[in-house]
Amino acid sequence: MLDTESFHLETTLVKEMMIDADKVAQVQLSNPLEHALLVLTKTGYNAVPVSNFEGKFEGIISKSNIVEAMFGLEQIEVERLQNHLVEDVMNKKVPTLQYDDIMEKALHTLIDYNFVCVVNDEEELMGIITRRQLLKQFRNKYYLDQGKNI
Ligand code: AMP
Repeated sequence: MLDTESFHLETTLVKEMMIDADKVAQVQLSNPLEHALLVLTKTGYNAVPVSNFEGKFEGIISKSNIVEAMFGLEQIEVERLQNHLVEDVMNKKVPTLQYDDIMEKALHTLIDYNFVCVVNDEEELMGIITRRQLLKQFRNKYYLDQGKNI
């Protein structure tokens, strides 16, 4: 994590704070929902990024997208998990951040989302920024300014 003294909303870049893509759980457009649900359940995350077969970022899929897709006309139909793909139910309209955006921009987006995906010019996923990371920086800065250690 970026050291607290160097953190400034107007100058710290998203790339300095993000969780790198190689540490981010992801699924692919063509994965069956069963696989996505397994990833979400095993990691404990509510949503994860989705990429296509070329590694380009396409959106996110959440547990609630999957649960909604399991509802048939009258009951939950578990077989839908095998018959439907991530691309059928994922959310493609999500904001993204660029590698070189400042954290002030991330702040605005993180008000509505608990994580935001960071992409490069080729739309490849470079990492994610979470609300938790930003809150931790604010907390550490607050105590640092007061001369207290936490
Ligand atoms: P957190 O603030 O750490 O609880 O993370 C908030 C949300 O960000 C999680 O529910 C996930 O949707 C996403 N997230 C955080 N870390 C990761 C990760 N390493 N891989 C994929 N998604 C993540």
